[in-house]
Amino acid sequence: KLSKRLQRIADYVSTGGRVADIGSDHALLPVYLLQSGKSRSAIAGELNAGPYMAAKKQAADANLTALLEVRQGDGLAVLKPGETDTVTIAGMGGLLMREILETGRQAGKLEGVTELVLQPNVGEDAVRLWLLEQGWYLANESILEEDGKIYEVLHAKRQPDAEALNAKLYDGSFLPLDWDRSALKGLLIRMGPHLIREGSETLEEKWRLEIEKLEKIRKQMSASDLPEAASKREQFQADIERIEEVLKCLR
Ligand code: SAM
Repeated sequence: KLSKRLQRIADYVSTGGRVADIGSDHALLPVYLLQSGKSRSAIAGELNAGPYMAAKKQAADANLTALLEVRQGDGLAVLKPGETDTVTIAGMGGLLMREILETGRQAGKLEGVTELVLQPNVGEDAVRLWLLEQGWYLANESILEEDGKIYEVLHAKRQPDAEALNAKLYDGSFLPLDWDRSALKGLLIRMGPHLIREGSETLEEKWRLEIEKLEKIRKQMSASDLPEAASKREQFQADIERIEEVLKCLR
């Protein structure tokens, strides 16, 4: 049985496609996708030798070597253009994830890929921004709590009307806030437009914790009398207030 986090990722993967799971570790996700019959074939990519060997063993133990190819390499470099429909990347930071996606894109590895399922551990904003800039429609996202940790899963699709759909998604007109557009868009990119619309308790909890962290930093800056500290402090205060305003809209 998959963890709740991996199950949520699996739920987003479209049925009947070829999937590549990058940074697959023990290849739990592709093994599940094949065993459940959801995916037709899979590639597990791993940079490091330990997890690569573990994934190989997992594929063999599950009798899936015909359907699951395990490849060692950096990010999307393990893929040939056009050989996969869905790319999943989970359990790493958003900045590394964006780096992997962008390097892969430049090498043509995303050509023919129609769907991305991404679960950044932190730095979700970097991933959302990259998707937006690259014209991937953020079709859905979800937030969940497991073992005391909060995870976000992003589901992006390549489709002709992606730009128009994203424009609507990020215009924030559903929020009763009279901020300027770019401030609103910035916060939507950070907090997740679908997640804000859904307004779950888990989202609220996540951002209460974030505010606590920001407060801590702001207080530490109060102790500093460096000339730039005052304006930084104000920026933090303004940021906290903005997040709180959005949280108020959730209820
Ligand atoms: N995706 C699995 C999950 O979500 O449960 C495993 C997550 S594990 C914390 C991250 C994995 O990514 C590690 O096994 C690591 O070796 C691999 N990794 C890190 N950087 C990578 C890269 N540039 N290319 C491929 N794999 C990478």
